[in-house]
Amino acid sequence: MTTKFDEAFVYNGVPNRVVFGSGTISRLAEEVKRLGLKRPLVLSTPVQKRDAESIAAQLGENVAGIYTNATMHTPVDVTEAALAVMTETEADGVIAFGGGSTTGLGKAIALRTDLPQIVLPTTYAGSEMTNILGETYGGQKKTLRSPKVQPEVIIYDVDFTLTLPVGLSATSGMNAIAHAVEGLYAQDRNPIISLMALEGIRALAEGLPVIVERPQDRTARSKALYGAWLCGTVLGSVSMALHHKLCHVLGGTFDLPHAETHTVVLPHATSFNAEAVGDLLAPLNEIFNSDGPGQGLYDFAKRIGAPTALKDLKMPEDGLDKASTQATENPYYNPRPFDRQQIRSLLDDAFHGRRPQK
Ligand code: NAD
Repeated sequence: MTTKFDEAFVYNGVPNRVVFGSGTISRLAEEVKRLGLKRPLVLSTPVQKRDAESIAAQLGENVAGIYTNATMHTPVDVTEAALAVMTETEADGVIAFGGGSTTGLGKAIALRTDLPQIVLPTTYAGSEMTNILGETYGGQKKTLRSPKVQPEVIIYDVDFTLTLPVGLSATSGMNAIAHAVEGLYAQDRNPIISLMALEGIRALAEGLPVIVERPQDRTARSKALYGAWLCGTVLGSVSMALHHKLCHVLGGTFDLPHAETHTVVLPHATSFNAEAVGDLLAPLNEIFNSDGPGQGLYDFAKRIGAPTALKDLKMPEDGLDKASTQATENPYYNPRPFDRQQIRSLLDDAFHGRRPQK
């Protein structure tokens, strides 16, 4: 990509420290010490409890305990229960071990206590790189941005991603790619973030097909995790547009699974926006060896065995009208202006899993 310096730009760096590589869990005690922590609480979901216990055991005396009830979409009652454990055990920070759900709990605790966070990501969602937190209050999800929720230290140990099931690896990887695609045409895009976005997409495009064949391939897993880091940085640095709005509406209103929804919607949102910013999306054609960026993403999703139709995610067809209305209610930036009918038609294509036009 050649940068044209015909426009001024602003670059917001993500303020954190990253330790990357196979076996980097061995650096955890050192990182805990660096932050001056004496008793961090280890967080996980129930599924990842065993690993959380072994991480806590590695810290010996320097751990407050574990809390293993992290839940998708960060419900506030779960956060309150975790905060009670923080107080009871006199914890002075958190170690979030897991995907976006566990990272979300760590962020929700940090928002309320201002205590430091170390994140050990085990999916490709990218939440660890952002100052964004989505929380659910009685079924309603509200999103905020705050420097308080930005994690201080990220340890990307590739070994923890070896157990990520193939299906979730594929959709979580597509979720990461979605951050980068929207970064390419973000209103506040800049050349540094575009570089990261393309490098991130390229790494995932190379890594994911190998992971589907050989889930234990460390090189492919490293590529994918590196790509996810870059794509997460994009999400944390610039603002998102139509694609993320649609996924927010679909996930929030119809309780659709997060990564799968991103996977299905992305080719359609990308194809729609290619009409306006085909030049910015053109590098995707080379990465995915396609004639159109939406088509390339669609074919790639199929190749890695990921879902391509909302109907397969249990989206009710009679909900498409409501989703179209909600997605067009509050005006927000998108490179291509749209009306409700266009969104209804986009969602219809996504519902049936049709291959995009571009
Ligand atoms: P997740 O964290 O819900 O994980 C899905 C399931 O997979 C969980 O049961 C988890 O324990 C399990 N799992 C995770 N890694 C594993 C591994 N390596 N091996 C075996 N099992 C593993 O899924 P996710 O897609 O990472 O996160 C989704 C959530 O993150 C959503 O709530 C979404 O809104 C949020 N999110 C937030 C941001 C942000 O910037 N705030 C960004 C992306 C996603």
